[in-house]
Amino acid sequence: MSTSIRGAATPAARTAPLDAAALRRDFPILAQEVRGKPLVYLDNAATSQKPRVVIDALREYYETTNANIHRGIHDLSEKSTAAYEDARVRVAGFINAARPHEVIFTRGTTDGINMLARAWGDANVTSGNEILLTEVEHHSNLVPWQELAKRRDARLRFIPTDPAGVIDLDAFAGMLGPQTKLVAVHHVSNVLGVIAPVAAMARLAHEHGAVIAIDGAQSAPHMPVDVQALDVDFLTFSGHKMAGPTGIGVLYGKEHLLEAMEPAHFGGSMIRAVELESSTWADLPYKFEGGTPNIAGAIGLGVAVDYLDGIGMDAIDAHARQLGAYAVNVLSDMPGVTVHGPDADGERGGVVSFTVEDLHPHDVGTVLDGEGVAIRAGHHCAQPLMRKLGVHATARASVYLYNTTDEIDCLVESVVKAQRFFGTV
Ligand code: PLP
Repeated sequence: MSTSIRGAATPAARTAPLDAAALRRDFPILAQEVRGKPLVYLDNAATSQKPRVVIDALREYYETTNANIHRGIHDLSEKSTAAYEDARVRVAGFINAARPHEVIFTRGTTDGINMLARAWGDANVTSGNEILLTEVEHHSNLVPWQELAKRRDARLRFIPTDPAGVIDLDAFAGMLGPQTKLVAVHHVSNVLGVIAPVAAMARLAHEHGAVIAIDGAQSAPHMPVDVQALDVDFLTFSGHKMAGPTGIGVLYGKEHLLEAMEPAHFGGSMIRAVELESSTWADLPYKFEGGTPNIAGAIGLGVAVDYLDGIGMDAIDAHARQLGAYAVNVLSDMPGVTVHGPDADGERGGVVSFTVEDLHPHDVGTVLDGEGVAIRAGHHCAQPLMRKLGVHATARASVYLYNTTDEIDCLVESVVKAQRFFGTV
């Protein structure tokens, strides 16, 4: 039976629609003008902005509590340790982990996936084994597995997806077999916004004895992610994309899998006993947190997840889906604009990639920047996906809880300006 340690949000708070215009005031950076225009920040898939409570928590930590953790016998060290461990409990509650020590603090998603590839992969993947991925993955959920496959003489296979990035579940089921060791897929694509059916994939993977690791970089910030309900074995995500600080992230793993794993980083803080020739390891989660961790970052992430839970992850999810669908509709209606990814009524979140006929995405991004509209243009760390889409790059707008419909309208007006500027309409 699933255990719940989720805490902060009341059911009412979690279902009420959010008031983005009011929430914006929590984010000091959004009040500024850029190039003489009000800032329209639509680059949230790259990193989100930070609410004042998180900024204040970081300052307060350094002004009042700063000390190294788990080592001191003095007051500040005890307080710092308590705050760090309290953050772990909050983050565990946020993803409904059964136990706080299933949450390992990392530097971010990339760090977590690399740790997993070393600590779980090297011990469990052998010659002839298969790792199933998709062509939609961010490089961070592809390159570490390429390297693992090289080290262990294993094979990468790619689950078919349609042009919108929707996973073919039947084809996936047909690929699973005794040779499948790992399924490593995104939860939400950072390019197409498409949401993967991870609960169904976890069920199928487990039926074949495979482990499933989810790249939650674009889901944990935007939707309720319940690791027990999804029954995923591992989940990685980054604090900086979810109102938290940079340099902090999470590798969640089921207790029995983490217990069986060797550490990936060796040194101080992660040992039980050290002899000259060999050592033994501390208990979970410490055996995976060698060296001084990002203490302030973890505390800031704890405050960030409380902030998000206070608004309600269901409301944040609904807001992202609604704005995403609105953006898809208005952009698709524009002459010369192609939206990549699912239609407005498909399983998609608030990441919207598009290309404009005869315009390079960088040129689109530059004109938008002149209007105060911050988007991203490029391959979005997904070069194989770009090739699959038949483009070199896309422009990408991505929303968060503080974005409004007016800002999407501003994006659209700015794209029209870009088309007029370059004479393509
Ligand atoms: N996976 C996805 C889907 C992402 O969108 C990103 C970042 O954009 C990452 C992994 C890597 O995250 P980080 O750079 O925080 O390690």
